[in-house]
Amino acid sequence: MSSTQHTNNKRDPSDYDVLIVGAGFSGLYLLHRLRGSGFRVRVVDRASDVGGTWYWNRYPGARCDVESMQYAYSFCPELEQEWVWTEKYATQPEILRYAHHVAERFDLRRDIELNTTITSAVFDESKHRWLAETSDGRAISVGFCIMATGCLSTTNTPKFEGQESFAGPVYHTGEWPHKAVDFTGQKVGVIGTGSSAIQAIPLIAEQAEHLYVFQRTPHYTVPAWNRMLESDPASSESGRKAYGYDADLTIEEIKADYAGLRKRARKMFNALAFIPNRNSALEVDAFERQVEYEEFWQRGGVVFLGAYTDLAKSLEANETAAEFVRQKIRQIVKDPVVAETLVPTYTIGCKRLAVDTNYYETYNRSNVTLVDVGQSPIQRITQQGIYALDQEFNLDSLIMATGFDAMTGTLLKIDIRGRDGLTLKEKWAEGPKGYLGLGISGFPNFFMITGPGSPSVLTNMMQSIEQHVDWVVACLEYLRTHNIAAIEATQSAEDDWVAHNDAMADDHMRNSCSSWYVGGNIEGKPRVFMPYVGGFPLYVEKCDEVAAQDYLGFTLTP
Ligand code: NAP
Repeated sequence: MSSTQHTNNKRDPSDYDVLIVGAGFSGLYLLHRLRGSGFRVRVVDRASDVGGTWYWNRYPGARCDVESMQYAYSFCPELEQEWVWTEKYATQPEILRYAHHVAERFDLRRDIELNTTITSAVFDESKHRWLAETSDGRAISVGFCIMATGCLSTTNTPKFEGQESFAGPVYHTGEWPHKAVDFTGQKVGVIGTGSSAIQAIPLIAEQAEHLYVFQRTPHYTVPAWNRMLESDPASSESGRKAYGYDADLTIEEIKADYAGLRKRARKMFNALAFIPNRNSALEVDAFERQVEYEEFWQRGGVVFLGAYTDLAKSLEANETAAEFVRQKIRQIVKDPVVAETLVPTYTIGCKRLAVDTNYYETYNRSNVTLVDVGQSPIQRITQQGIYALDQEFNLDSLIMATGFDAMTGTLLKIDIRGRDGLTLKEKWAEGPKGYLGLGISGFPNFFMITGPGSPSVLTNMMQSIEQHVDWVVACLEYLRTHNIAAIEATQSAEDDWVAHNDAMADDHMRNSCSSWYVGGNIEGKPRVFMPYVGGFPLYVEKCDEVAAQDYLGFTLTP
C-alpha cells in the first residue's frame, strides 16, 4: 500500500488507498498523517475551499466558543508556536485563515478535490474495496473510505407553509453567502435562538432598522468576555492574557508550555483545560453557591457547567445553576415580560450551552422585538414576512438560524452500501449504531471521524479530531504491516458499545430535553442520544485498549 508500490503497479489515477470525504479540520489532519505514512489519499469536499464548518458558517458574529489557544491543532509544535491568534475567541474569518495556513504549510491542497460531492459509496466484498461516485459521475476506487464529514454539516430548514412566496432574500446561518450582507435600513426576521442566532442577533440588531426574533424555546447562554489578544510582550499583561479557564495565562506563558496545556486538556471530560470545582452544588449553602456561580460567570464560556461536579447528574443541583442564569437574565433584560420570555425552564446544559457577547442586552434595544412562538408556532410565511400569533410581521430579509441535521444527516445523504448491499439508511433506521463511533458492523474498511457514539461535540473538537485521526492512522498502518485486507466491527462489539452509550446517557442531564443531540430538531428522526457522554479520558482509554489488543471487537480478514 505504499506510494512506491502504487507507482510500480501503475494503477488508474482514480485508484487510491484512502478516500477522505471532507476537507475540514478532520480531513486536513487525516490527509497530512496518512500521506506521511505513505498512503495514496484523495480528499474531496463539496465546498469550493477547505475549512469545513468554518467555510460555511459565515454569519455575522460567527466565532468559536472554545478559546482560540485551545481550538487549534496540537500535532505540530512549530505550528502551535508560529500561529498568532488575535482574539481570545477566534472569529470565523480567522479560523478559516488558520485552516488555509495549515493546508498550505503542509502542502495539502494538491490531494484535495474541491467542488466535489460524493453521492454514493459501495463496498465490493470480492475486492475489499469501496467504489465511490461523485455528483459529476466520476468513480473513485479505494481500499478505505473515511468520513470526515463533520457533525454539523447538513443544515436544517423547517418547512413552513408559504415559504417560497417570501419576496426578500432568505439566509441560513449554516450556508451564509460569501459576500457581506448589509441589513442597514431593513426589517429583518431571525427564526431560532440557538448558538448561531445568539451570536448573530446582537450584530444584526446594530445594523438593521428593526429585528424580529422568533423564539420557539429560550436558550441558556453565558458571556464570552471576549477580548483582543496582544502577543507583543511589551503590551500590558492583561492584554496578553489568552486563557482564562483556570489561571489567566498570557500567550507567552501558554506557548512556553503548550504541551502542558494539552496534557491538562486531555485529562478533562470535555478535553478542555480548565479547573473545575470538585464539590457538589448540594454540599454548600446558597450563599456559597451564589459566589461560585458568579465566579464562573465572570470567567465566562462553556466551562460554566464545571461550577459543580453534579450539574450533569442531579436535577436538584442543575436547578441551582439554571436559577442563577435565570436571575442574570432578569437582571440584564429591563422589560420584565421580555425577560420572562427569555428565561428557559429546562435543565441547563441539556441543549448545548451558548456563549455570547451582549445577547440578553440586545433585547433592551428599541429596535428589537422578541416574538414568542413557543406556544403557538409560526403559522406561515407570506410574501411580506412571517405570519405568527395571528399577525403579519413585515420583513425585508429572513434568516433561518434553525440548525443542523446533526451527526447523521450528512452520512445519510450519501448512498452508502456495505456488505451484502446493506445501506446505511437501513442500518441506522432506528438511530446510529457503531463501534466507538469509529466503525460500523456490516461496513468494512469504513471509518468515521468523530462519528455518533464518540465524545465529539461534547468536547473540544480539535482534541477529539486528533485522537480519532491518530487512532485510524495507527490502525491502517497495523493492517498494512499485518497484510490485512479488511477490518470490520463485530456485531457484538457494536451492540455492547451502543448499550454502553445508551446506559451512560440514560439519566444524564444532556438527555433530559429535546435537542439536536437526540435528533429532536428533525421531524421523524429516531430519538437516540448520539454523542458518547462518558467523557473524553474514559473513551480514549477504551480506544487505546482496543488497539493494544490487536483491534479487539473488529474482525480482521487477511
Ligand atoms: P440549534 O442549536 O439547533 O438552534 C436552532 C434554533 O432554531 C432553535 O432555537 C430551534 O428552536 C429553532 N427552530 C428550529 N425549527 C424551528 C421552527 N420550526 N420554528 C421555530 N424555531 C425553530 O442550531 P444552531 O444555533 O445553528 O447551533 C447548532 C450547534 O452548532 C450548536 O449547538 C453548537 O454546537 C454549534 N455552534 C457552535 C458555535 C460556536 O462554536 N460558537 C456557534 C454556532 C453553532 P428549538 O430549540 O425549539 O428547537
